[in-house]
Amino acid sequence: MEIRSLEDLRAADNLSLAFNPYGLGSRMRPEDAVEFQQRQIADCDLVEGVAAGTRDSFERLRTVFAYGVLCYDVYTMVGDQALLVFEQALRDRFMEWCGGSITFRFPQDPEVTVAVASYDEVKKLADRMARRRAKLVVATNGIEFNGTLYGLRRWARTAGLLRGRRSRSVEEALAKLRNYVAHPSGHHVDTPVEAARTVRDLAELINQLWGRATPGGRLYPAPLHREIAVLSWNGLGRARMEPAGALFVPDPPEEQDGEYQHIVVRAIPFIPNSRWNDDHWAEFDTRYETTRFPTDYLWGPGTREEARTWLEGERPEGDSVDFTDRVFLIQNHGRLLPPMRPAVAAGLPDGERAGVWHAVRADFPDDAFAHVRGSGDASAGHVRRRGDCSVCSAEVLGFGSFDEALRAAAAALGPIQAVQLPSVRLPLSIFWPNRP
Ligand SMILES: [Zn+2]
Repeated sequence: MEIRSLEDLRAADNLSLAFNPYGLGSRMRPEDAVEFQQRQIADCDLVEGVAAGTRDSFERLRTVFAYGVLCYDVYTMVGDQALLVFEQALRDRFMEWCGGSITFRFPQDPEVTVAVASYDEVKKLADRMARRRAKLVVATNGIEFNGTLYGLRRWARTAGLLRGRRSRSVEEALAKLRNYVAHPSGHHVDTPVEAARTVRDLAELINQLWGRATPGGRLYPAPLHREIAVLSWNGLGRARMEPAGALFVPDPPEEQDGEYQHIVVRAIPFIPNSRWNDDHWAEFDTRYETTRFPTDYLWGPGTREEARTWLEGERPEGDSVDFTDRVFLIQNHGRLLPPMRPAVAAGLPDGERAGVWHAVRADFPDDAFAHVRGSGDASAGHVRRRGDCSVCSAEVLGFGSFDEALRAAAAALGPIQAVQLPSVRLPLSIFWPNRP
């Protein structure tokens, strides 16, 4: 090979300089690029308690990432290595979880508990047990576990260490990439953008494995803060959302015609440029989950004055809500209706329980709806039995009659308390126009 000088090794790689804050384009100065690239992953710190081996590997990745400005190939190597750290983190977490022994359950025989001192021992044992059709005991469940990445992911999900439906799809994609990296069959090149995202995803995953959700995270977001908000609309098709506090300042002129109706809800507040704004807030409906994030009905409809009086008397407060892994019921009666909260469905009168019902777990109502709609077409590949869907991020909990679907929801959520809310919805709809 060609021997390069120290000066040459220290020189910036022109390819790396082409990535600037606006994407690809004019080259950055090397000193700016060094700072810009390091900032992309500067804030993804691991929480306390993460196993030392996993932490060391992760910090090494962050260190090496900075050298990508000098050598573009580093980004590909960082991306690949991150996928291997993904498995290391699962192994380290498994060893902490098992506390030195694991239990297997045989089809007929009683359970056996075996001491294990390292993951290599776990893997050998698990492989042997899998061939004897024994299952790993995780709390009250028995799962197939042969010690591979596939088994580790299943274990982490069953043990409740990983959560979310969309994140599960990403874990699936990471696992496929990891297998590709371990057994490469071709040539691939990562950009700094892809490498940084992989490192950030990895940080979220490791932190979640050790029990900490990521504020504002892409994969395992911490619960979102909800505030008291007022939704209002008039007969001219105008709607708006404002914080409850806005009712205590003098009325804006257009409100004084008194034609607006108001309701009070608990909702994700609108924050400029936030990834968590609810684009569907104006679809709010007490019967259906037509907003993207959980929005709770509190009062209304009524005039601005009445809303103010109610707020003064009740003084409701904000809260925080985990929007992942929600359970929705979807009714198909002549046509497919929007997703419903199980508690709302449980409060339906007998006459409105006809048709086929689906119980689906998803992060967003549109995900649940898209799955059920897609499963009507066999060629689309959506799963049509209980379990994780292989082509979308939904999990099928059950389907059949109203009672069967409600039972499936209760099996996932625990006993469901029926609620009966006044029928209130904002009149204009873009995303969910097909409502009875
Ligand atoms: Zn699906």
